Amino acid sequence: MDQGLTSGEAAARLARYGANELQRAEATPPWKVFLRQFKGALIWLLLGACVVSAALGEVGDAIAIGAILLINAVVGFLQEYRAERAVLALRSMTAPHARVRRDGEARVVPAAEVVPGDVLLLEAGDLVAADARLLEAHALSTLEAALTGESVPSEKRADPAPPEAPLAERHDRVFLGTAVATGTGAAEVTGTGMKTELGRIAHLLATAEEEETPLQRRLDQVGRLLLWLCLGLVVVVAAANLARGHSWLEVLMSSVSLAVAAVPEGLAAVVTIALAVGVQRMAARNVLVRKLPAVETLGSTTVICTDKTGTLTTGTMAVRELWGPDHQALLHAAAANCDAELAADGSGTGDPTELAILQAAALRGIRRQDIEKDLPRREEHPFDSERKMMSVLRSDGMLYLKGAAEMVLPRVRDGAGQAVATAAELSSRGLRVLAVAVGRGDREEDLELRGLIGLSDPPRTEAIEAIRQARRAGVRTVMITGDHPKTAEAIAREMGLLQPGDDPGEVVHARATPEDKLKVVRAWKAKGAVVAMTGDGVNDAPALKEAHIGIAMGKGGTEVTREASDMVLADDNYASIVAAVREGRGIYENIQKTLVYLLAGNAGELMLMLGATAFGLPIPLLPLQLLWINLVTDGLPALALVMDPAGPDLLERPPRPLQEPILGRAQWITILWVGALEATLSLAVFAWALRTRDLPHARNLAFSVVVFAEVLRAMASRSTTRTYFEVGAWSNMRLIAVVVASIGLQLLIHWVPPLHPLFDIAPMDAWEIGVTAGLGLIPATALELSKLLSRQKHSAPPARSG
Ligand code: ATP
Repeated sequence: MDQGLTSGEAAARLARYGANELQRAEATPPWKVFLRQFKGALIWLLLGACVVSAALGEVGDAIAIGAILLINAVVGFLQEYRAERAVLALRSMTAPHARVRRDGEARVVPAAEVVPGDVLLLEAGDLVAADARLLEAHALSTLEAALTGESVPSEKRADPAPPEAPLAERHDRVFLGTAVATGTGAAEVTGTGMKTELGRIAHLLATAEEEETPLQRRLDQVGRLLLWLCLGLVVVVAAANLARGHSWLEVLMSSVSLAVAAVPEGLAAVVTIALAVGVQRMAARNVLVRKLPAVETLGSTTVICTDKTGTLTTGTMAVRELWGPDHQALLHAAAANCDAELAADGSGTGDPTELAILQAAALRGIRRQDIEKDLPRREEHPFDSERKMMSVLRSDGMLYLKGAAEMVLPRVRDGAGQAVATAAELSSRGLRVLAVAVGRGDREEDLELRGLIGLSDPPRTEAIEAIRQARRAGVRTVMITGDHPKTAEAIAREMGLLQPGDDPGEVVHARATPEDKLKVVRAWKAKGAVVAMTGDGVNDAPALKEAHIGIAMGKGGTEVTREASDMVLADDNYASIVAAVREGRGIYENIQKTLVYLLAGNAGELMLMLGATAFGLPIPLLPLQLLWINLVTDGLPALALVMDPAGPDLLERPPRPLQEPILGRAQWITILWVGALEATLSLAVFAWALRTRDLPHARNLAFSVVVFAEVLRAMASRSTTRTYFEVGAWSNMRLIAVVVASIGLQLLIHWVPPLHPLFDIAPMDAWEIGVTAGLGLIPATALELSKLLSRQKHSAPPARSG
């Protein structure tokens, strides 16, 4: 067989021909990304305010608003830049791979490193990594819809097709971007990257739009609603003030203040950051998110349908039992129809079941290489999970066959009776059982039984714990396996997946075909479940697409399944799915509590401004002061809040219903009462100070109360059920740092005289700072007390929400 390129030659060719990649559309230039930050109604409003202030001679205000706009744009730019980098990193992590023969060995390399002259090794489920000419093909067919639009698999053969044949009839070629539907083959690469059939039409491929998640879409709606609400209020208040005889300038200032107060500037950034951080945390736990909405859906998952082999179990098979008259002959026949390759050091590539067989055979001196040399293959009937068996016809005219016992034994000529009983016994011990037989000629019938092989596949210990955690979290685990029902049940019991009282038919699906997977997903969905489904084979793609969350295997899976998935498990481990569910719940909660935190602040500011108007008082806070609060003393704690580490009790409660609004009744009630409390406190201080002090000084005090109230309340907002100290005083150092920094910045603008005209404030004495800080502590304390009170009322351990 062709030895393929040497690695040295491959490297040289990579340098000469370039990476095997399609050119992407040009990235957006940085200055465009920067300019893009100056959009949205709020920004236009502020720009307007900036221009009006300048026109009215309020140069300080104009500069300050301009500076804030600039800071906002820089922050937005950096966020977008960082997010783009994260996406690029993810893309390279989930980039496709290809199997090639190099230095005479099968190797897995990144598809980008495939070069002309490489020998591609193809197997059902692979994405073809480059254009190539077939050297060998066994029952090979590929799906070429991406190129030709043809949805039926095209059959491929190694004999040359006429050179002038149209693309769809080139049966001796495989093409980049197509997928292997059945069979196996080897092909020599003829073109890579842009020098492929796909490359020729690549400029026609639109770059995919970044997808918004349902949450982001819903929040856009909330944002728009708030904007209209606020514009309406502005008009009403402006009209009232004009009627009262206020000057145009005053009316304009109060209108801008109101608008700034009502709009939560940090809203969009909060969600983006929560999702980006979540994606990174999941990557650290071996879960690569391909589609952002999956992060949200994860927290609502109620059923995880998982493959058994390699996901619940380690997938490291070992031969435990041999049954038959002649073990040597049994293993020889089994090794004679393996495709896996065992290296001299005991490692290998290919199906773990076959590797285990080859290892057992090697112990008896039987080597596949020798068999391939002595008895070259004539024909193959490849394995697929529907037939559950495979066979190879060799030059001695013998057909070597192995497969699931109940598929093979009915084809055996005589003496299968005892084998059936033995197979049943081995299966009920949790062993995978293969029957091995030989025949004459091409037909898989009239066979002679060589014996049975029983293989064990130990459960992953961490998966047992994860199954227990999932159960407590109200998430059911459903095992789907191609193995025998007895094998499957034995392992399900051992892992605690099947417990007394469980309906085995519901949680264990054995001898399942890919179509069965689709049926299982549909059945659970019909019952209202939110379903996550794992898959590895080519035929699993439809089930992954149908599930709410399709999860592909990173190690054992095929490229086709990865393309169809929402998430990829880098370690193929069930426990990683449960870890991801926990992260998903944590991300959702972080977003929720940060929204409540931000909106309560905005509600408070709005009520303060409206209250002042209602009582006929001057504007308590200037636009710039409000912007400072929203972007700095509110915005920074919000960023720390949204990155809170996932709490310990996230898996102690049932999944959140998928349709539940992120801001429900309970959240709106908190927003309103906390807002009202903050408004009352600051308004009272303002009204009182107006009697004894001048206007800027009175504003000072109101400003200070709001800032302290907001900063301190961030600490009480980490959980809706547990107090700050119960959550862990030191568990979010970022938040502590931000709170200290915000207070420091606030004192700075009070104490550094050059900043005074900018914020229109005067210095405060220690007594004033002390009093406003004390008042600012009240909302945080009230929040903590409300948790303790509601706990007493229910006199139960904390229930929903962390
Ligand atoms: P799971 O569905 O639990 O992940 P799996 O995907 O490995 O397991 P299949 O590959 O569909 O399941 O295997 C189904 C059955 O086919 C096995 O129980 C075994 O009897 C048989 N089988 C598996 N691999 C081979 C093979 N390489 N050659 C012959 N028969 C096989």
